[in-house]
Amino acid sequence: VDPVKENYVRKVKNCIFSIAVPTPLKSRVRLVAVSKEVLEDILDLDLSVSETDDFIQLVSGEKIVSGSIPLAHRYGGHQFGIWAGQLGDGRAHLLGTYMNRQGEKWELQLKGSGKTPYSRNGDGRAVLRSSVREFLCSEAMHSLRIPTSRVASLVVSDDEVWRDQFYNGNIVKERGAVVLRVAKSWFRIGSLEILAHYGELDLLRTLLDFIIREHFPSVEVAEPNRYVDFFSVVVSETAQLIALWMSVGFAHGVCNTDNFSLLSITIDYGPFGFMEAYNPDFVPNTSDDEGRYKIGNQANIGIFNLNKLLQALNPILDPRQRQLAAQILEGYPVLYYTRFRELFKAKLGLLGETKGDDDLIAFLLHLMEKTAADFTMTFRQLSEITQSQLQELNIPQQFWALNMISKHKLFPAWVSQYLLRLKRYVLRNWMAESAVRKAERNDFSEVHFLQRVLRHPFQKHSAAEKAGYSSPTPSWAKDLKVSCSS
Ligand code: AMP
Ligand code: MG
Ligand code: MG
Repeated sequence: VDPVKENYVRKVKNCIFSIAVPTPLKSRVRLVAVSKEVLEDILDLDLSVSETDDFIQLVSGEKIVSGSIPLAHRYGGHQFGIWAGQLGDGRAHLLGTYMNRQGEKWELQLKGSGKTPYSRNGDGRAVLRSSVREFLCSEAMHSLRIPTSRVASLVVSDDEVWRDQFYNGNIVKERGAVVLRVAKSWFRIGSLEILAHYGELDLLRTLLDFIIREHFPSVEVAEPNRYVDFFSVVVSETAQLIALWMSVGFAHGVCNTDNFSLLSITIDYGPFGFMEAYNPDFVPNTSDDEGRYKIGNQANIGIFNLNKLLQALNPILDPRQRQLAAQILEGYPVLYYTRFRELFKAKLGLLGETKGDDDLIAFLLHLMEKTAADFTMTFRQLSEITQSQLQELNIPQQFWALNMISKHKLFPAWVSQYLLRLKRYVLRNWMAESAVRKAERNDFSEVHFLQRVLRHPFQKHSAAEKAGYSSPTPSWAKDLKVSCSS
Protein backbone atom coordinates (compact mmCIF):
# COMPACT_ATOMS: atom_id res chain seq x y z
CA VAL A 1 0.00 0.00 0.00
CA ASP A 2 1.27 3.47 -0.81
CA PRO A 3 0.98 5.49 2.41
CA VAL A 4 0.79 8.78 0.54
CA LYS A 5 -2.21 7.52 -1.40
CA GLU A 6 -3.99 6.10 1.63
CA ASN A 7 -3.27 8.68 4.29
CA TYR A 8 -4.80 11.80 2.80
CA VAL A 9 -7.44 13.43 4.98
CA ARG A 10 -10.99 12.95 3.80
CA LYS A 11 -14.62 12.23 4.66
CA VAL A 12 -15.10 8.48 4.71
CA LYS A 13 -18.41 6.70 4.17
CA ASN A 14 -19.71 3.18 4.69
CA CYS A 15 -16.87 1.56 6.53
CA ILE A 16 -15.56 0.84 9.99
CA PHE A 17 -11.85 1.01 9.17
CA SER A 18 -9.61 2.58 6.57
CA ILE A 19 -6.27 1.12 5.60
CA ALA A 20 -3.66 3.53 6.91
CA VAL A 21 0.08 3.08 7.07
CA PRO A 22 2.20 4.45 9.93
CA THR A 23 4.69 7.18 9.10
CA PRO A 24 7.85 6.31 11.03
CA LEU A 25 9.59 8.82 13.26
CA LYS A 26 12.83 9.96 11.65
CA SER A 27 15.58 11.05 13.95
CA ARG A 28 17.18 9.21 16.84
CA VAL A 29 14.32 6.87 17.64
CA ARG A 30 14.91 5.14 20.95
CA LEU A 31 13.08 3.13 23.57
CA VAL A 32 12.20 5.01 26.76
CA ALA A 33 10.20 2.45 28.69
CA VAL A 34 8.38 -0.85 28.46
CA SER A 35 5.82 -2.53 30.65
CA LYS A 36 7.27 -5.88 31.66
CA GLU A 37 3.78 -7.04 32.62
CA VAL A 38 2.26 -6.20 29.25
CA LEU A 39 5.11 -7.77 27.34
CA GLU A 40 5.21 -10.97 29.38
CA ASP A 41 1.65 -11.49 30.55
CA ILE A 42 -0.23 -10.18 27.51
CA LEU A 43 2.10 -10.43 24.53
CA ASP A 44 4.04 -13.60 25.47
CA LEU A 45 7.33 -11.75 24.95
CA ASP A 46 10.44 -12.13 27.02
CA LEU A 47 11.53 -8.79 28.44
CA SER A 48 14.94 -9.18 26.76
CA VAL A 49 13.23 -8.91 23.35
CA SER A 50 12.74 -5.21 24.03
CA GLU A 51 16.49 -4.68 23.66
CA THR A 52 16.51 -5.75 20.02
CA ASP A 53 16.43 -3.37 17.04
CA ASP A 54 13.57 -5.36 15.62
CA PHE A 55 11.48 -4.55 18.64
CA ILE A 56 12.09 -0.79 18.42
CA GLN A 57 11.28 -0.83 14.72
CA LEU A 58 8.03 -2.66 15.36
CA VAL A 59 6.85 -0.53 18.24
CA SER A 60 7.72 2.75 16.53
CA GLY A 61 5.87 1.98 13.30
CA GLU A 62 9.02 1.68 11.23
CA LYS A 63 8.39 -1.97 10.43
CA ILE A 64 5.04 -3.67 10.12
CA VAL A 65 4.78 -7.19 11.47
CA SER A 66 4.13 -9.67 8.66
CA GLY A 67 0.47 -10.34 8.02
CA SER A 68 -0.66 -7.05 9.55
CA ILE A 69 -2.78 -4.58 7.58
CA PRO A 70 -2.63 -1.38 9.63
CA LEU A 71 -5.97 0.34 10.00
CA ALA A 72 -7.40 3.58 11.27
CA HIS A 73 -10.85 3.29 12.82
CA ARG A 74 -13.67 5.52 11.60
CA TYR A 75 -15.75 6.88 14.46
CA GLY A 76 -17.71 9.99 15.34
CA GLY A 77 -18.83 11.43 18.61
CA HIS A 78 -20.29 14.13 20.78
CA GLN A 79 -17.56 16.50 21.93
CA PHE A 80 -18.50 18.70 24.89
CA GLY A 81 -22.14 17.80 24.30
CA ILE A 82 -22.23 18.63 20.60
CA TRP A 83 -22.29 16.24 17.64
CA ALA A 84 -18.86 16.59 16.04
CA GLY A 85 -19.32 14.43 12.94
CA GLN A 86 -16.45 12.28 11.71
CA LEU A 87 -13.51 12.03 14.11
CA GLY A 88 -11.71 8.68 13.86
CA ASP A 89 -8.14 7.59 14.64
CA GLY A 90 -6.27 10.70 13.56
CA ARG A 91 -2.92 9.60 14.95
CA ALA A 92 -3.37 5.94 15.79
CA HIS A 93 -2.91 2.74 13.80
CA LEU A 94 -4.47 -0.57 14.67
CA LEU A 95 -1.88 -3.22 13.90
CA GLY A 96 -4.14 -6.21 14.41
CA THR A 97 -5.36 -8.67 17.00
CA TYR A 98 -2.95 -10.89 18.89
CA MET A 99 -4.11 -14.11 20.48
CA ASN A 100 -1.85 -15.02 23.38
CA ARG A 101 -1.01 -18.32 25.03
CA GLN A 102 -3.98 -18.01 27.34
CA GLY A 103 -6.26 -17.69 24.34
CA GLU A 104 -7.00 -14.02 25.05
CA LYS A 105 -7.31 -11.65 22.10
CA TRP A 106 -5.70 -8.25 22.39
CA GLU A 107 -5.84 -5.42 19.86
CA LEU A 108 -2.48 -3.71 19.30
CA GLN A 109 -2.46 -0.06 18.40
CA LEU A 110 0.27 2.51 17.80
CA LYS A 111 -0.41 6.08 18.86
CA GLY A 112 1.51 9.03 17.49
CA SER A 113 2.40 7.07 14.37
CA GLY A 114 1.43 9.60 11.72
CA LYS A 115 -1.47 10.88 9.68
CA THR A 116 -4.52 8.88 8.63
CA PRO A 117 -7.69 9.76 6.71
CA TYR A 118 -9.02 11.00 10.05
CA SER A 119 -6.25 13.44 10.98
CA ARG A 120 -8.34 16.53 10.09
CA ASN A 121 -6.04 19.45 10.97
CA GLY A 122 -3.75 17.41 13.17
CA ASP A 123 -0.20 16.32 12.47
CA GLY A 124 -0.74 12.68 13.39
CA ARG A 125 1.83 12.92 16.17
CA ALA A 126 1.93 12.59 19.95
CA VAL A 127 4.50 14.32 22.12
CA LEU A 128 6.73 12.79 24.78
CA ARG A 129 4.91 14.60 27.60
CA SER A 130 1.47 13.16 26.86
CA SER A 131 2.91 9.75 25.98
CA VAL A 132 4.73 9.48 29.31
CA ARG A 133 1.51 10.45 31.07
CA GLU A 134 -0.46 7.81 29.19
CA PHE A 135 2.18 5.16 29.87
CA LEU A 136 2.34 5.84 33.59
CA CYS A 137 -1.34 6.38 34.19
CA SER A 138 -2.75 3.44 32.28
CA GLU A 139 -0.35 1.09 34.04
CA ALA A 140 -1.20 2.72 37.38
CA MET A 141 -4.93 2.34 36.73
CA HIS A 142 -4.41 -1.32 35.94
CA SER A 143 -2.58 -1.80 39.23
CA LEU A 144 -5.49 -0.09 40.99
CA ARG A 145 -7.67 -2.79 39.40
CA ILE A 146 -9.51 -0.30 37.24
CA PRO A 147 -10.36 -1.54 33.75
CA THR A 148 -8.12 0.27 31.30
CA SER A 149 -6.20 0.11 28.05
CA ARG A 150 -2.54 -0.74 28.62
CA VAL A 151 0.76 0.53 27.25
CA ALA A 152 3.45 -1.95 26.18
CA SER A 153 6.17 0.45 25.16
CA LEU A 154 7.15 4.06 24.68
CA VAL A 155 9.65 5.34 22.12
CA VAL A 156 10.83 8.91 21.66
CA SER A 157 12.56 10.66 18.77
CA ASP A 158 14.16 14.01 18.06
CA ASP A 159 11.43 14.83 15.53
CA GLU A 160 10.03 18.28 16.20
CA VAL A 161 6.37 18.48 17.11
CA TRP A 162 4.83 21.87 17.85
CA ARG A 163 2.21 22.20 20.55
CA ASP A 164 0.23 24.90 22.29
CA GLN A 165 0.62 23.39 25.76
CA PHE A 166 -1.70 25.67 27.68
CA TYR A 167 -4.07 26.72 24.90
CA ASN A 168 -2.74 30.27 25.22
CA GLY A 169 -1.39 30.72 21.68
CA ASN A 170 2.15 30.06 22.83
CA ILE A 171 3.49 27.30 20.60
CA VAL A 172 6.50 25.35 21.83
CA LYS A 173 8.71 22.68 20.32
CA GLU A 174 8.31 19.19 21.72
CA ARG A 175 9.52 15.75 20.68
CA GLY A 176 7.49 13.14 18.83
CA ALA A 177 6.85 9.86 20.64
CA VAL A 178 4.98 6.65 19.88
CA VAL A 179 3.33 4.26 22.30
CA LEU A 180 2.22 0.75 21.58
CA ARG A 181 -1.05 0.31 23.41
CA VAL A 182 -3.15 -2.77 23.89
CA ALA A 183 -6.79 -3.29 24.78
CA LYS A 184 -9.34 -6.04 24.34
CA SER A 185 -11.13 -3.62 22.03
CA TRP A 186 -10.85 0.02 21.00
CA PHE A 187 -14.49 0.43 19.96
CA ARG A 188 -16.24 3.39 21.52
CA ILE A 189 -19.73 4.83 21.73
CA GLY A 190 -18.71 7.01 18.78
CA SER A 191 -17.99 3.87 16.72
CA LEU A 192 -21.73 3.16 16.65
CA GLU A 193 -22.87 6.78 16.60
CA ILE A 194 -21.27 7.54 13.26
CA LEU A 195 -22.98 4.56 11.58
CA ALA A 196 -26.39 5.52 13.01
CA HIS A 197 -25.88 9.17 12.14
CA TYR A 198 -25.21 8.48 8.46
CA GLY A 199 -27.91 5.78 8.25
CA GLU A 200 -25.43 2.94 7.69
CA LEU A 201 -27.66 0.52 9.54
CA ASP A 202 -26.42 -2.73 8.02
CA LEU A 203 -22.90 -1.86 9.10
CA LEU A 204 -24.24 -0.85 12.51
CA ARG A 205 -25.79 -4.30 12.95
CA THR A 206 -22.67 -6.03 11.62
CA LEU A 207 -20.40 -4.14 14.00
CA LEU A 208 -22.68 -4.67 16.98
CA ASP A 209 -23.00 -8.38 16.30
CA PHE A 210 -19.23 -8.62 16.04
CA ILE A 211 -18.71 -6.75 19.31
CA ILE A 212 -21.34 -8.84 21.09
CA ARG A 213 -19.88 -12.10 19.78
CA GLU A 214 -16.32 -11.16 20.68
CA HIS A 215 -16.73 -9.26 23.93
CA PHE A 216 -20.13 -9.82 25.53
CA PRO A 217 -20.28 -13.52 26.47
CA SER A 218 -23.35 -12.92 28.63
CA VAL A 219 -25.36 -11.69 25.64
CA GLU A 220 -26.96 -14.37 23.47
CA VAL A 221 -25.98 -13.74 19.83
CA ALA A 222 -29.19 -15.23 18.40
CA GLU A 223 -31.46 -13.41 20.85
CA PRO A 224 -33.86 -10.92 19.17
CA ASN A 225 -33.36 -8.60 22.17
CA ARG A 226 -29.57 -8.82 21.99
CA TYR A 227 -29.02 -5.10 21.41
CA VAL A 228 -31.06 -4.29 24.51
CA ASP A 229 -29.13 -6.91 26.47
CA PHE A 230 -25.89 -5.42 25.18
CA PHE A 231 -27.05 -1.94 26.20
CA SER A 232 -27.92 -3.21 29.65
CA VAL A 233 -24.37 -4.53 30.16
CA VAL A 234 -22.81 -1.27 28.93
CA VAL A 235 -25.03 0.76 31.29
CA SER A 236 -24.04 -1.35 34.25
CA GLU A 237 -20.33 -1.52 33.42
CA THR A 238 -20.11 2.21 32.71
CA ALA A 239 -21.70 2.97 36.08
CA GLN A 240 -19.17 0.65 37.74
CA LEU A 241 -16.23 2.20 35.92
CA ILE A 242 -17.13 5.76 36.87
CA ALA A 243 -17.65 4.71 40.49
CA LEU A 244 -14.14 3.22 40.37
CA TRP A 245 -12.73 6.45 38.94
CA MET A 246 -14.38 8.36 41.78
CA SER A 247 -12.98 5.99 44.39
CA VAL A 248 -9.41 6.91 43.39
CA GLY A 249 -10.10 10.56 42.59
CA PHE A 250 -9.53 10.13 38.85
CA ALA A 251 -10.88 12.81 36.54
CA HIS A 252 -10.74 11.68 32.92
CA GLY A 253 -10.84 15.20 31.58
CA VAL A 254 -12.45 14.62 28.16
CA CYS A 255 -15.48 12.37 28.61
CA ASN A 256 -16.67 12.81 25.02
CA THR A 257 -18.61 9.89 23.55
CA ASP A 258 -15.66 9.07 21.29
CA ASN A 259 -13.54 8.57 24.40
CA PHE A 260 -15.99 6.21 26.13
CA SER A 261 -15.22 2.57 25.48
CA LEU A 262 -18.04 0.14 24.67
CA LEU A 263 -16.22 -2.34 26.91
CA SER A 264 -16.22 0.24 29.70
CA ILE A 265 -12.49 0.37 30.05
CA THR A 266 -10.65 3.64 30.61
CA ILE A 267 -9.36 4.88 27.25
CA ASP A 268 -7.89 8.03 25.80
CA TYR A 269 -5.58 9.39 28.43
CA GLY A 270 -5.25 13.08 27.64
CA PRO A 271 -5.73 15.92 30.12
CA PHE A 272 -6.72 13.56 32.97
CA GLY A 273 -5.79 14.28 36.55
CA PHE A 274 -5.91 12.72 39.99
CA MET A 275 -7.57 15.00 42.48
CA GLU A 276 -5.41 16.15 45.37
CA ALA A 277 -7.48 18.27 47.78
CA TYR A 278 -11.02 16.89 47.74
CA ASN A 279 -13.08 19.11 45.48
CA PRO A 280 -16.06 17.96 43.40
CA ASP A 281 -15.38 20.92 41.07
CA PHE A 282 -11.90 19.65 40.21
CA VAL A 283 -11.28 20.13 36.44
CA PRO A 284 -8.00 18.70 35.13
CA ASN A 285 -8.43 19.96 31.56
CA THR A 286 -7.40 23.60 31.07
CA SER A 287 -9.57 23.90 27.95
CA ASP A 288 -12.74 22.79 29.78
CA ASP A 289 -13.84 26.32 30.70
CA GLU A 290 -17.32 25.39 31.83
CA GLY A 291 -16.16 22.46 33.92
CA ARG A 292 -18.38 20.09 31.98
CA TYR A 293 -16.02 17.24 32.84
CA LYS A 294 -15.26 18.21 36.42
CA ILE A 295 -14.79 15.20 38.65
CA GLY A 296 -18.12 15.63 40.42
CA ASN A 297 -19.97 15.59 37.10
CA GLN A 298 -18.53 12.37 35.71
CA ALA A 299 -21.38 10.17 36.89
CA ASN A 300 -23.89 12.48 35.16
CA ILE A 301 -21.82 12.53 32.00
CA GLY A 302 -22.05 8.74 32.06
CA ILE A 303 -25.82 9.10 31.66
CA PHE A 304 -25.43 11.66 28.88
CA ASN A 305 -23.07 9.37 26.98
CA LEU A 306 -25.23 6.29 27.49
CA ASN A 307 -28.15 8.30 26.16
CA LYS A 308 -26.13 8.96 23.02
CA LEU A 309 -25.41 5.26 22.78
CA LEU A 310 -29.14 4.58 23.10
CA GLN A 311 -29.84 7.09 20.32
CA ALA A 312 -27.37 5.25 18.11
CA LEU A 313 -29.15 1.95 18.83
CA ASN A 314 -32.66 3.33 18.37
CA PRO A 315 -32.82 2.94 14.56
CA ILE A 316 -32.32 -0.81 14.92
CA LEU A 317 -34.67 -1.31 17.90
CA ASP A 318 -38.44 -1.79 17.76
CA PRO A 319 -40.64 0.52 19.89
CA ARG A 320 -40.93 -2.01 22.70
CA GLN A 321 -37.14 -2.50 22.80
CA ARG A 322 -36.58 1.26 22.83
CA GLN A 323 -38.84 1.56 25.84
CA LEU A 324 -37.08 -1.32 27.56
CA ALA A 325 -33.67 0.22 26.93
CA ALA A 326 -34.84 3.60 28.25
CA GLN A 327 -36.01 1.88 31.43
CA ILE A 328 -32.65 0.17 31.78
CA LEU A 329 -30.93 3.54 31.63
CA GLU A 330 -33.16 4.75 34.45
CA GLY A 331 -31.52 2.11 36.62
CA TYR A 332 -28.11 3.75 36.20
CA PRO A 333 -28.18 5.93 39.34
CA VAL A 334 -28.89 2.94 41.57
CA LEU A 335 -26.13 0.89 39.92
CA TYR A 336 -23.72 3.78 40.29
CA TYR A 337 -24.50 4.53 43.94
CA THR A 338 -24.44 0.88 44.93
CA ARG A 339 -20.91 0.52 43.61
CA PHE A 340 -19.86 3.95 44.92
CA ARG A 341 -21.08 3.04 48.41
CA GLU A 342 -19.32 -0.33 48.27
CA LEU A 343 -16.02 1.26 47.27
CA PHE A 344 -16.11 4.05 49.82
CA LYS A 345 -17.10 1.64 52.57
CA ALA A 346 -14.04 -0.39 51.66
CA LYS A 347 -11.94 2.78 51.86
CA LEU A 348 -13.23 3.30 55.39
CA GLY A 349 -12.84 -0.35 56.38
CA LEU A 350 -16.56 -0.84 56.89
CA LEU A 351 -17.99 -4.33 56.66
CA GLY A 352 -21.63 -5.35 56.37
CA GLU A 353 -24.63 -3.12 55.83
CA THR A 354 -25.74 -0.35 58.16
CA LYS A 355 -28.37 2.27 57.54
CA GLY A 356 -26.18 5.25 58.29
CA ASP A 357 -23.36 4.36 55.89
CA ASP A 358 -24.37 6.82 53.17
CA ASP A 359 -24.50 9.58 55.77
CA LEU A 360 -21.15 8.65 57.21
CA ILE A 361 -19.50 8.81 53.76
CA ALA A 362 -21.26 12.01 52.68
CA PHE A 363 -20.45 13.65 56.03
CA LEU A 364 -16.75 12.84 55.66
CA LEU A 365 -16.63 14.08 52.06
CA HIS A 366 -18.33 17.29 53.16
CA LEU A 367 -15.68 17.86 55.84
CA MET A 368 -12.94 17.06 53.34
CA GLU A 369 -14.34 19.58 50.88
CA LYS A 370 -14.64 22.31 53.51
CA THR A 371 -11.09 21.78 54.75
CA ALA A 372 -9.53 20.95 51.35
CA ALA A 373 -8.17 17.75 52.84
CA ASP A 374 -6.14 15.51 50.54
CA PHE A 375 -8.41 12.90 49.00
CA THR A 376 -6.01 9.97 48.88
CA MET A 377 -4.18 10.62 52.15
CA THR A 378 -7.28 11.19 54.25
CA PHE A 379 -8.42 7.64 53.61
CA ARG A 380 -4.96 6.18 53.90
CA GLN A 381 -4.30 7.93 57.20
CA LEU A 382 -7.68 6.89 58.55
CA SER A 383 -6.56 3.32 57.95
CA GLU A 384 -3.24 3.94 59.70
CA ILE A 385 -4.24 5.92 62.78
CA THR A 386 -5.26 3.84 65.78
CA GLN A 387 -8.80 3.96 67.01
CA SER A 388 -7.78 5.25 70.41
CA GLN A 389 -5.81 8.12 68.82
CA LEU A 390 -8.89 8.97 66.81
CA GLN A 391 -11.16 8.68 69.81
CA GLU A 392 -9.01 11.06 71.83
CA LEU A 393 -8.63 13.33 68.78
CA ASN A 394 -4.93 12.94 69.35
CA ILE A 395 -3.69 13.15 65.77
CA PRO A 396 0.08 12.80 65.38
CA GLN A 397 1.84 15.25 63.07
CA GLN A 398 2.54 12.68 60.37
CA PHE A 399 -1.18 12.36 59.70
CA TRP A 400 -1.19 15.71 57.96
CA ALA A 401 -4.37 15.16 55.97
CA LEU A 402 -6.30 14.19 59.10
CA ASN A 403 -4.85 17.21 60.83
CA MET A 404 -6.34 19.43 58.18
CA ILE A 405 -9.75 17.89 58.36
CA SER A 406 -9.70 17.86 62.18
CA LYS A 407 -9.74 21.66 62.13
CA HIS A 408 -13.41 21.46 61.23
CA LYS A 409 -15.69 21.87 64.21
CA LEU A 410 -17.81 18.89 63.17
CA PHE A 411 -14.87 16.49 62.92
CA PRO A 412 -15.38 15.09 66.47
CA ALA A 413 -19.00 14.38 65.57
CA TRP A 414 -17.94 12.47 62.49
CA VAL A 415 -15.29 10.56 64.45
CA SER A 416 -17.75 9.37 67.05
CA GLN A 417 -20.16 8.25 64.34
CA TYR A 418 -17.31 6.42 62.62
CA LEU A 419 -16.01 4.73 65.76
CA LEU A 420 -19.48 3.60 66.67
CA ARG A 421 -19.82 2.05 63.24
CA LEU A 422 -16.44 0.32 63.50
CA LYS A 423 -17.41 -1.64 66.59
CA ARG A 424 -17.21 -5.00 65.07
CA TYR A 425 -18.71 -7.21 67.74
CA VAL A 426 -21.67 -6.12 69.77
CA LEU A 427 -23.54 -8.59 71.91
CA ARG A 428 -26.48 -9.27 69.68
CA ASN A 429 -29.47 -10.86 71.34
CA TRP A 430 -29.17 -14.05 69.37
CA MET A 431 -25.59 -14.58 70.47
CA ALA A 432 -26.56 -14.23 74.09
CA GLU A 433 -29.56 -16.48 73.51
CA SER A 434 -27.42 -19.16 71.92
CA ALA A 435 -25.04 -19.04 74.89
CA VAL A 436 -27.98 -19.13 77.31
CA ARG A 437 -29.53 -22.19 75.62
CA LYS A 438 -26.24 -24.06 75.97
CA ALA A 439 -25.79 -22.87 79.54
CA GLU A 440 -29.20 -24.32 80.42
CA ARG A 441 -27.73 -27.65 79.34
CA ASN A 442 -24.69 -26.98 81.57
CA ASP A 443 -22.51 -26.24 78.55
CA PHE A 444 -20.86 -22.93 79.44
CA SER A 445 -18.39 -22.95 76.56
CA GLU A 446 -20.18 -20.27 74.53
CA VAL A 447 -20.46 -18.00 77.55
CA HIS A 448 -16.70 -18.13 77.97
CA PHE A 449 -16.14 -17.77 74.25
CA LEU A 450 -18.33 -14.66 74.01
CA GLN A 451 -16.63 -13.22 77.03
CA ARG A 452 -13.25 -13.51 75.29
CA VAL A 453 -14.49 -12.00 72.04
CA LEU A 454 -16.25 -9.09 73.64
CA ARG A 455 -13.22 -8.20 75.72
CA HIS A 456 -11.59 -7.12 72.41
CA PRO A 457 -14.51 -5.90 70.34
CA PHE A 458 -12.33 -4.14 67.75
CA GLN A 459 -10.17 -7.12 66.91
CA LYS A 460 -11.06 -9.63 64.28
CA HIS A 461 -11.33 -13.06 65.89
CA SER A 462 -11.12 -15.94 63.48
CA ALA A 463 -13.08 -18.22 65.80
CA ALA A 464 -15.81 -15.60 66.04
CA GLU A 465 -15.97 -15.29 62.28
CA LYS A 466 -16.30 -19.06 62.12
CA ALA A 467 -19.11 -18.97 64.64
CA GLY A 468 -20.95 -16.63 62.30
CA TYR A 469 -20.79 -13.54 64.51
CA SER A 470 -20.12 -11.30 61.51
CA SER A 471 -22.77 -12.98 59.39
CA PRO A 472 -26.37 -11.94 59.01
CA THR A 473 -28.68 -12.86 61.86
CA PRO A 474 -29.58 -16.56 61.64
CA SER A 475 -33.17 -17.21 60.67
CA TRP A 476 -34.06 -18.89 63.99
CA ALA A 477 -33.21 -15.67 65.80
CA LYS A 478 -35.04 -13.18 63.56
CA ASP A 479 -38.03 -12.69 65.88
CA LEU A 480 -36.26 -13.14 69.18
CA LYS A 481 -37.87 -11.17 71.99
CA VAL A 482 -36.69 -10.76 75.56
CA SER A 483 -39.15 -9.85 78.28
CA CYS A 484 -38.42 -7.44 81.11
CA SER A 485 -38.91 -10.07 83.75
CA SER A 486 -36.16 -12.31 82.45
P1 AMP B 1 -9.12 13.38 21.64
O1 AMP B 1 -9.48 14.72 22.18
O2 AMP B 1 -7.74 12.94 22.01
O3 AMP B 1 -10.13 12.37 21.96
O4 AMP B 1 -9.08 13.51 20.04
C1 AMP B 1 -10.19 13.88 19.31
C2 AMP B 1 -9.95 13.63 17.85
O5 AMP B 1 -8.85 14.39 17.38
C3 AMP B 1 -9.64 12.19 17.50
O6 AMP B 1 -10.24 11.91 16.27
C4 AMP B 1 -8.13 12.19 17.40
O7 AMP B 1 -7.65 11.16 16.58
C5 AMP B 1 -7.88 13.55 16.79
N1 AMP B 1 -6.53 14.06 17.07
C6 AMP B 1 -6.07 14.51 18.26
N2 AMP B 1 -4.80 14.90 18.16
C7 AMP B 1 -4.42 14.71 16.87
C8 AMP B 1 -3.23 14.92 16.13
N3 AMP B 1 -2.14 15.44 16.70
N4 AMP B 1 -3.22 14.58 14.83
C9 AMP B 1 -4.30 14.08 14.25
N5 AMP B 1 -5.46 13.85 14.88
C10 AMP B 1 -5.54 14.17 16.17
MG1 MG C 1 -10.13 10.45 21.67
MG1 MG D 1 -6.73 11.91 23.13
